[in-house]
Amino acid sequence: MQAREIIVIGGGAIGLATAIELRLLGAKVTILSKDFKAAAGHAAAGMLAPQAEQIPTGSMLDLCLASRELYPSWVQKIESISGINAGYWQCGILAPRYTQTEQNSAWLAAPTVHAQQAGLSESIVGGYWYPADGQVDNRALIRSLFSASQSLGIEFVDGVAVETIHHCQNRITQLETSQGSMSAQHYILATGAWSQQLLPIEVVPRKGQMLSVLVPPEQRDRLPLQQVLFGEEIYIVPRRDDKIIIGATSEDVGFAPQNTPQGVQQLLTAATRLFPLLQDFPIHETWWGFRPATPDELPILGASAYDNLTLATGHYRNGILLTPITAKLIADLVWHQKADGLLSDLSWERFNL
Ligand SMILES: Cc1cc2nc3c(=O)[nH]c(=O)nc-3n(C[C@H](O)[C@H](O)[C@H](O)COP(=O)(O)OP(=O)(O)OC[C@H]3O[C@@H](n4cnc5c(N)ncnc54)[C@H](O)[C@@H]3O)c2cc1C
Repeated sequence: MQAREIIVIGGGAIGLATAIELRLLGAKVTILSKDFKAAAGHAAAGMLAPQAEQIPTGSMLDLCLASRELYPSWVQKIESISGINAGYWQCGILAPRYTQTEQNSAWLAAPTVHAQQAGLSESIVGGYWYPADGQVDNRALIRSLFSASQSLGIEFVDGVAVETIHHCQNRITQLETSQGSMSAQHYILATGAWSQQLLPIEVVPRKGQMLSVLVPPEQRDRLPLQQVLFGEEIYIVPRRDDKIIIGATSEDVGFAPQNTPQGVQQLLTAATRLFPLLQDFPIHETWWGFRPATPDELPILGASAYDNLTLATGHYRNGILLTPITAKLIADLVWHQKADGLLSDLSWERFNL
């Protein structure tokens, strides 16, 4: 049995980014990944939307805003290591509304909203504009993170499932995996929606179905959407590569795979109602993924019941947004034993009190 300095269990956006941060601090890191392709990071829309999501004031909003702030420089760092562009785009997010709602400084009246975005449903009566929100092309980000991890010499073992975490009192002693036993000085659990299969923590899968359409060639000179539309029941995310991402359902169906007629119909109905131009665009792809949901929708970050295992899971619908801050907080905690104040409300123990 070969001992490694740090083993990260799970190679999605959170596991990869945390491993990279630790490697840059000098750690020797191995990532164990059951199924790289199943990671929610491949399925997401990539919105960086703390304001459009209307996250209430408090620790979650503080965390999300801190991560949005980190994004440009963090992406640049990852891209400079990997050489792969992650499609970060601070395009702003427009949240159109069919009914007059509470107005604040972000509210735009109907004429302004329709002037800002041509082609919206005529039933739109106004909307909120969040210029600091944006997006990253999450699939490109994952490619960039993976490539950066390889450039930095991080060992990434795909197709190996951790089956049991053995412990003796309050220390993890070894992992039983589908390829034998492994051990390290420290472990990080970044297994997303699958976390409860390894430890009794409050994370369950919440399925999301998605699809994409392609902007027809004759409209590509000037893309019909230059900002994310965050509707009441749908979001529409234009990429710079002529794809438009449409999402997402939110279903409590465990790990039931595949797209369903009902799910796809729900997306298409809501998307073409909000932005009717889409109805003639060719469908490019459909897919689904599993968000790691917690009871209060906040992630579970920081210490665990074991001295040498740190938790980085439960990012629910904002895990792409929260990737840079999670990697920084967890690396500082593991490497420097520095617990940032942002972690204080995110302990796993909050559900056991
Ligand atoms: C449809 C959809 C839309 C979304 N849209 C957005 C969005 O617009 N913006 C945003 O910020 N977030 C979004 N999210 C949420 C975001 O994708 C997730 O919160 C984030 O990707 C979680 O990352 P993770 O690394 O924790 O988990 P994952 O990316 O799911 O990775 C976990 C990995 O761990 C591996 N694993 C699991 N168990 C084991 C084991 N026992 N041994 C070894 N490996 C294991 C899995 O195979 C997987 O590869 C969306 C999610 C979905 C599903």
